[in-house]
Amino acid sequence: MKIIVGIDLGTTNSEISCLRTEGRPEVIPVEGETIMPSCVGIDHEGRLMVGRTAKNQMVANPEQTILSIKRRMGEKITLPLGDKAFSPEEISSFILGKLKSAAETYLGQKVEKAVITVPAYFDDAQRQATREAGILAGLDVVRIINEPTAAALAYEAGREEKQRILIYDLGGGTFDASLVEMENGIVEVRSSHGDTHLGGDDFDRLLSDHVALPFKKKYGIDLKSDLKAANRLWVAVEKAKRTLSDRPFATIREEFIVGDRHLDVEISREEYEEMIRPLLRKTMIAVHSCLKDAMFLPKAIDKIILVGGSTRTPLVARMLEDDMGIEPHHEINPDLIVAMGAAIQGAAMSGAKTKAILVDITPYTFGTRAIGEYQGRMTSDVYVPVIKRNSALPVGKEELFYTNYDNQQDILVEIFQGDEPLASENIFIGNFWIKGLSKAKAGNLILLNLELDVNGILKVTAKEKATGLARTVTMDTANKGTGTNLEEKRSNIESFLREDDDVEADGDDEGGGERDDGDVVLDKQGLINRAKSLRKRAEGMIPGVNEEDAAELTDLLEKNRRAIAGHDWGTVGRLNESLSDMLFYLED
Ligand code: AMP
Repeated sequence: MKIIVGIDLGTTNSEISCLRTEGRPEVIPVEGETIMPSCVGIDHEGRLMVGRTAKNQMVANPEQTILSIKRRMGEKITLPLGDKAFSPEEISSFILGKLKSAAETYLGQKVEKAVITVPAYFDDAQRQATREAGILAGLDVVRIINEPTAAALAYEAGREEKQRILIYDLGGGTFDASLVEMENGIVEVRSSHGDTHLGGDDFDRLLSDHVALPFKKKYGIDLKSDLKAANRLWVAVEKAKRTLSDRPFATIREEFIVGDRHLDVEISREEYEEMIRPLLRKTMIAVHSCLKDAMFLPKAIDKIILVGGSTRTPLVARMLEDDMGIEPHHEINPDLIVAMGAAIQGAAMSGAKTKAILVDITPYTFGTRAIGEYQGRMTSDVYVPVIKRNSALPVGKEELFYTNYDNQQDILVEIFQGDEPLASENIFIGNFWIKGLSKAKAGNLILLNLELDVNGILKVTAKEKATGLARTVTMDTANKGTGTNLEEKRSNIESFLREDDDVEADGDDEGGGERDDGDVVLDKQGLINRAKSLRKRAEGMIPGVNEEDAAELTDLLEKNRRAIAGHDWGTVGRLNESLSDMLFYLED
């Protein structure tokens, strides 16, 4: 069977993939990398360069380098390169040609057919130009498919039931939100909204301004007006931006950036997130327009899929989850998902059976215990997730913590597995002390780094930011199982509640006093005690009120009993309040 490759011809980067055996598409490396910059240039001897080499020479030779040609597709223009001029289709054909030959080397056979993806908003002229670019590269473009369709195929190929999927695609230069409906393998883009000039490049620009402005103030030199310095700055901030996706700080250090001046700046994720927040808000507005066009409410969405390198910025998933109430999926690499989906389409067209992509993910969240607020009270048992469940493996994340009091020299680092808001409700994985921190005021910065490999081995490093003092401990998470500990805890609490009822029957209202293992139990104990005293009042009142109020009180009491048994403390708190309001009104 002749292979039909899938190509994501992107604004910033391009990828090529194919599906040889049933199951998972392979991403074909180009010069050892899965992502090839969509960059074309000419070297000093007039030779054509495509991909990484072209991008690398951009700093030294920006006039002879073309970036983001996808933005010009469909326009009747030519761009100079060396002593010639090329149309956007021709420039794109150089990119496609390089991908094709990398695939031929990798597969050891000729590659003649391809599925190429385009944004959903591409018009006829732009689609035609893409097809022509393929032909110029020696490819038979068997199908042009929309990028959101390809992304949906990667997750959902082979599924029969109806799915409504929001594809949130934030790349280097463009943003797209699309609503896709899928049933029996048929994918339909129901609506699409976006901004063709919004993406990671804008984040880079904000970061460069943030760095260049103080430099100008200090030295009177505008880094942006010097082409070479500006390019070095751009490369450095882009790298820092990626670092901030996994770590709370990034350093930008460029020696002799202009004359004998060095650039040395540290940026925190918090500062960076504040910079880009207004741009991300614009993307959320587009998401809502998209829903409105398709006449869907957010709750009609079954899945959110993240596409494009910029969706690695953690604030993106956070904003989407806050707004839509669903955790977005990021199991499949957001840079590669479109090419992989195109490969699935290609395989289906060549007659192969296709399935959704399977990836190695961690089914558990890992985090630590810290001091924080829970249900309006401070507790030392707040759970702070660091690696989120469903992250593709291997994965590494770093978060920032602070010492709690002045001259705190020791910290106990505790690691848990689970998603409960309180650490003690999760499965304990391990702990260690880091001792000998410098004598500093409360708020001394501590970096906690978690690295989880494909075998479930978790490497935990805690480091004092100011001195670099660090301790690393390796923990095996693989046999921590599926929540037995949690089940144990649940049954503990349930039996505790039963005992508590017995004590109450004996007329003792203090129950559970010796079961104090920290703020959590005390917190719950407060809620339980209040529920008990409200129950007593309510039960005393029921015989004397009208039928409707009696039914309502009984219902509230029953719901509260169930919420306590399910240790749903948020609901217990709310029901306590409702009961108290109702009793207040009835007693009046
Ligand atoms: P794409 O157009 O999908 O290839 O996305 C490229 C954009 O993603 C560029 O702006 C990159 O700087 C950005 N990007 C890639 N990796 C990361 C990352 N780890 N965190 C934030 N942005 C990233």
